[in-house]
Amino acid sequence: MEKLKNYINGKWSESSESQTSPVINPATQEVLAHVPMGANTAKDLDAAIMHAQAAYLEWKNVPVMQRVQPLYKLKSLLEEHREELSRIITLECGKSIAESRAELQRAIENVETACATPTLIQSEFSENIARGVDEFMIRQPLGVCCCISPFNFPGMIPFWFLPYAIACGNSFVFKPSEKVPLTMVRVFELMEGIGLPDGLVGLVHGGKDTVDAMLEHPKVKAISFVGSTQVARYIYSKGAANGKRVQAQGGAKNPVVIMPDADLDVTSRIIADSVYGCAGQRCLAASNIITIGDQSGGIKESLYEAAKLKVTGFGLDESVEMGPVISSQSKGRIEMLIEKGKQEGANLLLDGRNCKVPGYEQGNFIGPTILEGLPLEGDVVNTEIFGPVMSLLPMDSLVQALQFINSNNYGNMACIFTGSGASARKFRNEADAGNIGVNIGVAAPMAQFPFSGWNDSFFGDLHGQGRHGIEFFTQTKVVIERWPKEWTRKF
Ligand code: NAD
Repeated sequence: MEKLKNYINGKWSESSESQTSPVINPATQEVLAHVPMGANTAKDLDAAIMHAQAAYLEWKNVPVMQRVQPLYKLKSLLEEHREELSRIITLECGKSIAESRAELQRAIENVETACATPTLIQSEFSENIARGVDEFMIRQPLGVCCCISPFNFPGMIPFWFLPYAIACGNSFVFKPSEKVPLTMVRVFELMEGIGLPDGLVGLVHGGKDTVDAMLEHPKVKAISFVGSTQVARYIYSKGAANGKRVQAQGGAKNPVVIMPDADLDVTSRIIADSVYGCAGQRCLAASNIITIGDQSGGIKESLYEAAKLKVTGFGLDESVEMGPVISSQSKGRIEMLIEKGKQEGANLLLDGRNCKVPGYEQGNFIGPTILEGLPLEGDVVNTEIFGPVMSLLPMDSLVQALQFINSNNYGNMACIFTGSGASARKFRNEADAGNIGVNIGVAAPMAQFPFSGWNDSFFGDLHGQGRHGIEFFTQTKVVIERWPKEWTRKF
């Protein structure tokens, strides 16, 4: 079985670390590869960073129009290899092949957006701020930028950062999630052919040891992290204490409000897609579904029917809508939270435990699950489950829903389904979340917009994607300039 290599200085090289962790197909338990994990990965990281630093010193002076040319090639290669990469995502991460294709599309859109860096990086100029004095701002790269990504979007999340970082003149060292490293290994193989100088991009495998080495390395200027809140907080505080620029996106617990004037069938279908898509392992998965004024039970019935229809199975089967969760530990944790919800007093309307997929009996499958009437102050309603579980919370008014939403520590996404512009406006104005959906189930910002996130869902100032990416990966320099006439030589 293959022990994965690092990509350092334009070459694939063996890790200094002999310990490994298996990469497991969550639908079959087949071991796909072994990933180096342990203290010696810090040596690999140091080598990648030192080469990245050398490459940066040359790259920063390459004109921006030339720096984006490799990105055009990368976009074409990602399109050409779309099917191959989507299959790798499904094999290591479990999601349905349709979800993997959609994920890759988002990656491609970020590359396209970063191709606009020559325009996006342009800056400001004020003539005559005082008589004969001009002032202007320029954006310069930072140096070596590092990225640490989670398991749930192996092919998309690195692209919230990588194309912007290099287009802005930085070098980039990436550590994939040890659970799903294969997608980006293949992407880095493809990147060998796009004309980047050796060392400019590096891939180093590992876990906490590798991350700690990044946080401490004096040549690392910026860190982009996406993962759980606990780790995001750690990386933000330690990175900042070490003088690094950090953007750290964390976990979520996303509420969706259904007003009585929403279209029932369409709303239920969209919400079921949001709750159960990627088996609930999206940071923008709807989780707490708040029904307003549903005394007749019509909304509940409609959601139940939509949930029951979801087809669970092996992601490469085109008819499957919901794959397995990432690991047997994760499955155990989700099942424990379902049981805890029952103990807290919820009615288990739909129970996805004991879900068996013929031919894939070893897979980490959980079917669509609905818990109804969890106590609002309980643990389950406030915990990120990260599995295919809908919590139905009946309430009386939008005001009550907003109070509940704004009492939650997270703030990644909040959505409303309604036919009323006034309700929608109040919601988008008052809900404490960085991404708002109005009659949308997964309010995932396009590449031109920041992937926002508030409260415990984000630590930092500038988010990933779009203009925020350009700002994060550059530092501003302001120049105030005077050219007195009498100092100018006359010709
Ligand atoms: P995770 O925090 O366990 O791991 C993320 C990365 O951090 C991995 O690369 C891992 O190797 C590293 N890591 C893990 N523990 C560490 C530690 N103690 N010290 C240093 N590094 C460590 O997250 P995950 O389980 O891979 O991903 C799921 C989480 O990511 C969920 O909470 C989800 O909401 C969140 N997420 C958030 C967003 C967002 O945009 N806000 C997007 C995707 C996923």
